Amino acid sequence: MIHRLQRIVQEVNRAPDINAALLLITESLTQDLTVDACTIFLAKENDPEVMLLKACNGLNPDIIDRVERRFGEGLIGTIAARAEAMNLIDAPGHKKFLLVPESGEVDYPIFLGVPIIAHRDVLGVIAVQRAQNAFNEDEEAYLTTLAAQLATSIERAESQGRFSAPQGSHMVKGVAGAPGMAIGQAIVLNRGVNLESVPDKKADDLDSELRSFREAVRKVCAELTEQAEKMRESLPEEECALFLAYAQMLSGGSLIDDTEKSIAEGNWAPSSWRDTVEQHAYVFSQMEDRYLAERANDIRDLGLRVLRKLMLEQSPYLDFPERTKLAGDDVTATDLADVPPDCLSGVISARGSSSSHVAILAHALGIPAVMGVPNLPVKQLDGVPLVLDGYNGSAFINPDQNLLDEYTRYLAEEEAIEQDLLELKDKQAITTDRRPIKLMVNSGLMSDYTPSLRSGAEGVGLYRTEIPFQIRDRFPSEEEQYSIYKSVLETFDGMPVVLRTLDVGGDKPLSYFPINEANPFLGWRGVRITLDHPEIFVTQVRAMLRANVEINNLAILLPMISGRAELVDSLFLINRVRDEIEEESGDKVWLPRIGAMIEVPSAVYQIEDICSMVDFVSIGTNDLTQYLLAVDRNNENVAELFSSLHPAVLKAMQQIVIGAARSDTPVSVCGELAGDPLGVMALLGMGIDNLSMSVGSLLRAKKVIMSFSYSELTELLQRALTMSDSFMIRDLYAGKLDERGLGGLIRAGK
Ligand code: PEP
Ligand code: MG
Repeated sequence: MIHRLQRIVQEVNRAPDINAALLLITESLTQDLTVDACTIFLAKENDPEVMLLKACNGLNPDIIDRVERRFGEGLIGTIAARAEAMNLIDAPGHKKFLLVPESGEVDYPIFLGVPIIAHRDVLGVIAVQRAQNAFNEDEEAYLTTLAAQLATSIERAESQGRFSAPQGSHMVKGVAGAPGMAIGQAIVLNRGVNLESVPDKKADDLDSELRSFREAVRKVCAELTEQAEKMRESLPEEECALFLAYAQMLSGGSLIDDTEKSIAEGNWAPSSWRDTVEQHAYVFSQMEDRYLAERANDIRDLGLRVLRKLMLEQSPYLDFPERTKLAGDDVTATDLADVPPDCLSGVISARGSSSSHVAILAHALGIPAVMGVPNLPVKQLDGVPLVLDGYNGSAFINPDQNLLDEYTRYLAEEEAIEQDLLELKDKQAITTDRRPIKLMVNSGLMSDYTPSLRSGAEGVGLYRTEIPFQIRDRFPSEEEQYSIYKSVLETFDGMPVVLRTLDVGGDKPLSYFPINEANPFLGWRGVRITLDHPEIFVTQVRAMLRANVEINNLAILLPMISGRAELVDSLFLINRVRDEIEEESGDKVWLPRIGAMIEVPSAVYQIEDICSMVDFVSIGTNDLTQYLLAVDRNNENVAELFSSLHPAVLKAMQQIVIGAARSDTPVSVCGELAGDPLGVMALLGMGIDNLSMSVGSLLRAKKVIMSFSYSELTELLQRALTMSDSFMIRDLYAGKLDERGLGGLIRAGK
């Protein structure tokens, strides 16, 4: 059964024409469940409370695209409204039964219908009918399983515009990744790593498009022939033949002809190739013969090889338009680095959440990011006008004039706020009842340094050393690290600089140090890796301590501390390295202040013990929230549940503050909450007086600090802690900001 299910779902995922795939599903189901009729209704895009018959088998096909059912109307509408299956032996006898006269369904009284649901939304209904034999439990379970699997595929197909390309102006909703607004043009970055995400695009120059396609094909052919030769030494002849067969497919025939035809019709080579490959693979996948059906994978494999070459040939965005909005299925931190900073003004990604690294980076660059937009029509987005609202996580595709006017006005207001904020840059961050707050920046890129100093940062509260590791293709040497660290320590001379030891693993991969785990966030991460690889840790600490010799403003922060043993081992190594360098050089080598990140729940409950061993602690609200709420910080399916203002997170942080106070250990916060105006209010109320944030948030945070008294924030926190969910807490703090006329700090328009 699982094979039948897989086959059906693959049909939808791979079919270039989804409507045709739905028809095929009804045919397959009619056979698999030995039924007389099968129908699929899907909710209409422009009116999701009404479903339209999209496919049927065994009934009069003329009713396709003509029969509609409102939620609650007829059996189909009732299934949708109740979000529940219906298994009937006498459908016409049911009070909700509605006959479609020209369908012929009255002959089939035995009825089973199940809803197709994705992310709590009913997308449609699948129903099967027959003349005799009631549906048994197995059949009901089979159809329910199929509908659940199809839901994701249908949702994806809808988002990719495979039912119909989205027309005109429309809004898509994700989650707020980085605050701010932007108006501009979307650019879809594609590295040719998968066929599905190649965007549609018209070719500017057909001849050059054709040339690059032929060149890519020629190179792949040459590689394949060479591989076949090499493999001959170690593989039997018939296995080598595969490479030659691949090369053969590229030497002419319909794969090549169809692509060239599509290019001649004005399409750029990558999407022409994508369509041809998908169509050919689809035809093979439908073949009854298992061997031939498997060939679909060969075609896709070949498709990818050529695509990769093609994308290398084509560098479509060497000239990024001004005000580029980078869009993609899963925009990554390194994608951002591909766009010149003065061209990039926003990010929108179908995957990810507010604490994904790409969002954090966008925040640091001061550009809005909208993350986790499940229905982002990535393929149709290239070159399309876009308005991004990073405050509430929405975007408008093809905005109409009214919307453009509205957001142009908001942008002007935002600009005015930014101008006002600039006046604060040399002022001390101090509450109205004169409690000073230290404002530091989170960094990891040299490009942050100047803006940080210009915004009046009082030091670096978190330097993510993994960023220089991630942009290389091998571990940086001690000397390379030495000069990176020295440059940040020197730039912020006279101010504290907190360098965090390497925090890779989880969602921060190193291409040259692959880690394959089923559960990466609960696996080999941060200090766990570096303690298992003391050679990496020691090299890094050596570089840090040496860079600090003449400056002495270094503090070292240890990520992912979950217990005493990790601290004992880290402190031992740091002390040993210090002694070694001192012995080697004869210079005085400072032992820096050493801190532990509190971002794993176990550390919250051991806070007093941890504080007895370190000079300071820094709360990582991103991971602390992820682990306390069991919400993956990068998973768009649960992004709505990720909130660092959740009462459980606030209570944990209060416990940290109380525990640390027993030994007078300073507490700072370096997660994203520290730069969120509402978070600033909550953290100050807790007694925290050291916040480290993306440079883009610094002046906003200062404005908030200077607008409230410590005593009123303490009282507000007490009220917040009695509340049962993060929405109430958010409203409480947002209401207070509005009272002070500061709503513009957290949303578009005042
Ligand atoms: C955090 O977890 O809050 C944090 C600051 O570290 P990172 O986001 O780099 O994991
Ligand atoms: Mg962290």
